[in-house]
Amino acid sequence: MKPIEQETIERIRSLTLAGKSAEEVSVLACVSAQTVRTYRQKLGLPPLCKIRKELRAQGRLETRCNDAYHASSANLCFDCVHAVSDNRGHGCPWTIDAWFREVPGWTVRRYQRNGKEYVQILHCPMFERG
Ligand code: SF4
Repeated sequence: MKPIEQETIERIRSLTLAGKSAEEVSVLACVSAQTVRTYRQKLGLPPLCKIRKELRAQGRLETRCNDAYHASSANLCFDCVHAVSDNRGHGCPWTIDAWFREVPGWTVRRYQRNGKEYVQILHCPMFERG
């Protein structure tokens, strides 16, 4: 990865601390989402879910799912920071330890294909774009 200008690095920092996702920051700072993620780590910024939690506590960010968007053919989890649980505050009842427990308040579509049941998550109150 080629180095980027200090001004762009500061933009990544300020937009991330404003609760913007890597994709949103990448558009606004004109760098790739991977570059945003790399510099988030280099800058030692907290996980986005913690930043957003703090902003919500201060009343500076709308509800968790205000930026939820997914194509009808896709599963919301693919774009969610909680899809992979870790010890940094990521994870949800559905993903932690692969328990697949229902998330209270979500909307899902269940369907069968080749004898198996599938669940497509359409709306989830815990969704956070990551
Ligand atoms: S919080 Fe919701 S959208 Fe995110 S991974 Fe869990 S179930 Fe999927």
